[in-house]
This record gives sequence, C-alpha cells and structure tokens, in this order.
Amino acid sequence: MTETVKPNPLSPEFNASAASTAYRSALEVIGAVEPRIAAAITQELADQRSSLKLIASENYASPAVLLTMGNWFSDKYAEGTVGHRFYAGCQNVDTVEALAAEHARELFGAEYAYVQPHSGIDANLVAFWSVLAARVEAPALVEAGVRNVNDLAENDWTTLRRAFGDQRLLGMSLDVGGHLTHGFRPNISGKMFTHASYGTDPVTGLIDYDVVRAQAKEFKPLILMAGYSAYPRKVNFAKMREIADEVGATLIVDMAHFAGLVAGKVFTGEFNPVPFAHITTTTTHKSLRGPRGGAILAQPEFAEFVDRGCPMVLGGPLSHVMAAKAVAFAEARQPAFATYAQAVADNAVTLAEGLLKRGGKLVTGGTENHLVLLDVTSFGLTGRQAESALVDSGIVTNRNSVPQDPNGAWYSSGVRLGTPALTSRGFGAAEFDRTAELIVDVLTAATPLSAASGGLSKAKYNLPADVAAKTQAAAAEILDANPLYPGLDIS
Ligand SMILES: *Cc1c(COP(=O)(O)O)cnc(C)c1O
Repeated sequence: MTETVKPNPLSPEFNASAASTAYRSALEVIGAVEPRIAAAITQELADQRSSLKLIASENYASPAVLLTMGNWFSDKYAEGTVGHRFYAGCQNVDTVEALAAEHARELFGAEYAYVQPHSGIDANLVAFWSVLAARVEAPALVEAGVRNVNDLAENDWTTLRRAFGDQRLLGMSLDVGGHLTHGFRPNISGKMFTHASYGTDPVTGLIDYDVVRAQAKEFKPLILMAGYSAYPRKVNFAKMREIADEVGATLIVDMAHFAGLVAGKVFTGEFNPVPFAHITTTTTHKSLRGPRGGAILAQPEFAEFVDRGCPMVLGGPLSHVMAAKAVAFAEARQPAFATYAQAVADNAVTLAEGLLKRGGKLVTGGTENHLVLLDVTSFGLTGRQAESALVDSGIVTNRNSVPQDPNGAWYSSGVRLGTPALTSRGFGAAEFDRTAELIVDVLTAATPLSAASGGLSKAKYNLPADVAAKTQAAAAEILDANPLYPGLDIS
C-alpha cells in the first residue's frame, strides 16, 4: 500500500521554531501595552486549533503571510499607482505593489493586475465604476441634467441610475448561491444598477446557459456577472463570455470563493475565468489562502480605469497587506499549492459522498469545487437548528439557504460546508469521511422543539448531551492528529 503524501499545510519553507520565536516576542511587546489583546490573540489561535472549521470562505494563512502584515508598511500613505504617487517616499511601497501585481499576473496568466482593493466588496465596486467609466458616455449624464454626481439629490439613487442611462446588471440570484454585491439592494450595486438575476434549473440545481442567454438577450445588461459564494459546481466561463459578447455586455467574474482552485490549476480551460472575463475580481483570503483583502485582474482595455480605484472608491492602499498578498501569491505559485488545491477539490468530493451514502441530501447532488450545500430538511431541521447543533458538537459551519428555500434566508434549510481550511491542516479522505459521519450523527440526533405558538420551532432544538460530547471528543481526535501550524509553540 502506498502512503499518500499529505499536502504541506503551510508553505514548504515553514520554520516552526523561527515562527514560535517571532510570535512569542510579538506577544510580549503587545502584552506590555494591552495584555488583554495579547491574551485574545493567543486565545484565538487556541480556538482555531480546536475547532473543526468547515466555513467555506475561511482558511489558515501561513505565518509568513501573517507576519508580513505586522510592520511599518502599515504607516505609509501611498495613494496613486506604482511610480505615480501623491505622496513622497513610496519607493519601498512601489517595490511591494509591483511585486504583488507581477506575482498575480504570473499566477493567473493575466495581462493586468490591481492589488489595492481592501476586500472583495471593494474589488467589485472598483470593477463596476471601471465599466461605467470605460463604457458609458458623458452625454448620458448631461441629458439627465447632471454635470457630475455632486449634483445628485442625496440618496437619489434613481437619479443616479438615470444619469448613467439606467445601466443594467445581470447576475446570479442570491437564492441559488450568488453574492449580495452582484446587484442586490442591501449593497450599493443594487442601487447603482437596474438589476435582474438568473437562477438554476429547479430539477438539476445547475446553471442552464440557454436560460441565461435568453434572459441576457431580453434584458440587455451592460454587465453580465458570474461567480458565487454558495454554488457547489463549476461554471463554464467560455459560455458566459459567449453570452456577454452576443448582447454586448462586459463580463465580470467574481472568483472570491474559488480563486485558490484557479491558482492551483484545478479549474482550467473553460472553467478558468481569467482568459474569458473582461474583469476578474477576487478576495485573497478564502481558498487562495492569503491575507484578508481583494484583487482585480483585467483585460488591458480596462486597466487605466481600474487603476483609478483609489481614490474613486478606495482609501489609501494597505501597503502591509499588499506585501502579504505578494507573499501569498508567491506561495501559490509553488507546486505545493497546486497539490493543496487539488486536495481541496478531492476532499469536497469525499465529504459529499460521505454525506450522500449516509442519507444526506445535497443541492445539485454533489460538488465540483471546494464546497458542499447540505439540505437539512431531510433531518427535519432548519439550517439554523443544524448550524447550532453542529456548533454544540464542535463543528463550525454556516447556515445557508437552498434554492426555493421554504424557510427563508434567516432560518434557511441548508448548511454550507467547505474544505479549504481543514485541507490546510492536512485533512485527507479519511478525515473528511469521518467528518461526514460526525455531521450525520449530530443531525440525526437533533430534533426540533415545539414553538410557543404551537407547531415546530425554526430555531429551538434538542441535541442529547452525550451525542454532543461524543462528537466533540471525536472531532478533537482528528484535529489533534492534524495540528494547525505544527510546531508553533504558543499558548
Ligand atoms: C466573500 C465574497 C465577497 C466579499 O468579500 P469581502 O472581502 O468580505 O468583502 C464578494 N464576492 C463573493 C462572491 C464572495 O464570496
């Protein structure tokens, strides 16, 4: 029998003894000023080490990435772009930003990269304004009697939309895994654009590209948006680009969730968004395993507009985070990261199969990426009850609506499970199959309680204490066998 080599949970260069010294010294320095913060940092490591983290949007960055953020780059103002700053003394920030952008271009095979966005939402906002700036003629503003946005009545978003000629955005519906920033009202994108969304096939749960095409032809959006945070399947970006071209739309792909699978060459060909999207936006802290932040890749015709992200919608760049992005991208360019990314996808399949064979019901019946959407109605629970019963048992997930959710977005009917974080700890097939077993055990044992108003509560539930305790012990066993930051001696 051959031993499968586990992906190195950290960068291959990880030096546990040097990292231990660095963190112990840092905590001593911090503790001298505010010991409660030093204690909270120490406790956060302990908590992360001892929880079975299946939050699909989270990961564990390497100490190299984390340490890069704690220094004097945080003190520097650097509005502008490399070589064109509005502040003096940016020579080292220039080195950092240029290197981060170069690594991003090489990693993703992109012609242009912008590494300033502070988060995924910011990256999308920069992308939206870039398309408006690049494609919408000023006469639309003049016709609407608006010289510039300062002439708008406060909060008059209708006027703003009209000023831009009522531009339209077609994105994936929130109900089937789309993201708030893709044209939904609570986010500014929903106020900037007239919005429509595409769903998934009610039987298969998959995107039906013919339906998207028909919608696009009728709706004629300026922006066609693809990308998701809770869709467990691949998206064919070649087809999305074809549709965008047919209707004259700009294709923006938000790969916030699955950028690690693109970087690790799990998503190639028509499933790699970068060659097809006019603009690709991402976070850097999810499956990509970098610092908390955002980034944009774009085809050259959008570069000059994306470059104006700061000060258009961003504050001064976070130079210390751009430095950490450079380190994370450098890590992702190493062969070990491709091994990691493949393991993330393989582990998701193992988790899905482990749930299916024990009677679980999955949205779309499986997975082709890093996440699984478990429909918990077959256990007689709401998503909220399932999420809470799992947390009681040491398993951290988040509740999520399923398509046509009978319980609405707040209580919901699903839990979203992701493999990036635990794969970074070195979990493989055996650990994920065991995790599936633990999840099914807990959800089978949990029962909804009666609501005060009669009928079943959507929030209250009962979980036998022995099941919670047994699961916690079983989870601790697999976590201890796969330590987070092995050898990092902080307690
Ligand atoms: C997480 C996510 C974002 C937002 O990222 P933040 O860094 O939290 O702003 C945007 N789009 C998608 C698809 C996401 O999953």
